[in-house]
Amino acid sequence: MSLPDHLLIDGELVTGGGPEFNVVDPANGETFAALRSSSEIQLARATAAARRAQPAWHALAQPERSRALHDVADRIRVEGEQIAEALTHETGRPLTRNRLYVDMAVDLFRMYAELTRALGGRVAPSNDPGQLSLVLRAPYGVVGCLVPWNYPLLLMVFKVAPALAVGNTVVIKPASETPLSLMVLSEIFATTLPPGVVNTVIGSGQTVGEGLVTDPAVDMIAFTGSTEVGRRLGVLCAEATKPSHLELGGKDPAIVFADADPAIAAEAVAWASFLNAGQVCTSTERVYVHESIHDQFVDAVVGVTGSIRVGDPFEESTQVGPMRSDGRRRKVLGEIEAAGSAGARVVAGGSAIDRPGFFMEPTVLVGVNHEMGVMREETFGPVLPIMAFSSDDEAFALAADTPYGLGASVYTETPARVERAYRELNVGTLWVNDPVVDNLAAPFGGNRASGDARELGLEALESFTTARHVHWNLAQDPKPWWFRQT
Ligand code: NAP
Repeated sequence: MSLPDHLLIDGELVTGGGPEFNVVDPANGETFAALRSSSEIQLARATAAARRAQPAWHALAQPERSRALHDVADRIRVEGEQIAEALTHETGRPLTRNRLYVDMAVDLFRMYAELTRALGGRVAPSNDPGQLSLVLRAPYGVVGCLVPWNYPLLLMVFKVAPALAVGNTVVIKPASETPLSLMVLSEIFATTLPPGVVNTVIGSGQTVGEGLVTDPAVDMIAFTGSTEVGRRLGVLCAEATKPSHLELGGKDPAIVFADADPAIAAEAVAWASFLNAGQVCTSTERVYVHESIHDQFVDAVVGVTGSIRVGDPFEESTQVGPMRSDGRRRKVLGEIEAAGSAGARVVAGGSAIDRPGFFMEPTVLVGVNHEMGVMREETFGPVLPIMAFSSDDEAFALAADTPYGLGASVYTETPARVERAYRELNVGTLWVNDPVVDNLAAPFGGNRASGDARELGLEALESFTTARHVHWNLAQDPKPWWFRQT
């Protein structure tokens, strides 16, 4: 398969003018594409183009902006297979799943094309009957969008669709490991949107990424990635008094109470942990199960784990592909080894798979304790550590013992436990009796070390706008209110 090698700057498709870098296909470990990063000048052209295009894009009649976003959705639908194949080469995720993510991207552009009509304002009470106080939601201006490698298409669209819908223009930087799908998207944006409304750049986070964040032409930053980088970008934005929305890492817990069906919970938890080889920010990364059903639950998890088909992501029957890089696989293997040295036992998987590419066995650990790295630090790989608890108080205390606050799951038939989980687990999303699933109509994001952003849902319209107040003197008496009082 050959993919385009170009970026979109001010309506023109151009190849990078900066240093070369390779994109490796994680399913075979070989270089799939040799590309050139964007140069400093190209980045400056991209942000300047976005700046110039923004007032006219915001001033466009709302139905026209909505139509343009529907056009983007239509073209993504037409080019869907090419986008899904690009995603499979760059992420190693099964093609069958990437097709679903293309469908979600189409849905998102359509949803925000329509939701933009729902963005209202309000009339605030005035000091005087002759005054009208309009509170309006206005776009920030130019939004810099930084996207990680695990979901390059979706996490880009989570930002770009609502940001454009409310009248911002954008400059997008994908992860260096996964720029390919954005190149197909660049063609689509070039033919559906006015020049400068969407611009794309590629290259290293430290140079192109920080260049984008600190560029004075950029008014707001929407970032998804690690907590470490997010904190740094938060500081850079604070220094420039620039708003930033940060979607960061997690260490999501699942609590399986004694009243849950162990077999159903086991299947849900295994998929919540091993989907995308565990490289999901909301992967279930630690499980607490009541001691009365612990052994039954572990047996069921091991059974599900053994049935997962790990393999070539282009095979229709494959359920899980490789990890994205060998470095990340080695880090995960190191965590398993460290847990083993501290007393944990591997009851499924535990090793790299001996074939080209970065494949890894889905792994289940038991006999873990709360001091182990696998229970505290984000693993971001296919590892599921399971720990027994004896009381609800203990389970809630363990689940809440983390700096992160992205998501959590509970498996129970007792509403009071759900209510307690909602109150005591400070997370953006609580899943009840279901593995980790997205509802595009509901907000998504984390708290504390997991960031502060809210993407998706109506909430994203708020996220990409700021309140502006228009104070209007309508009084017959042309004197300002202050003079009329004195
Ligand atoms: P990352 O290293 O933080 O990188 C994310 C993006 O930022 C990439 O485009 C990267 O570019 C860029 N970047 C890196 N350093 C930068 C810098 N100094 N200045 C500006 N940009 C910079 O994260 P990752 O390893 O790609 O992604 C995995 C992490 O993302 C995990 O922690 C995961 O939990 C988190 N995540 C969170 C969510 C969520 O919604 N909360 C969703 C998905 C993933 P390069 O690729 O060129 O370095």
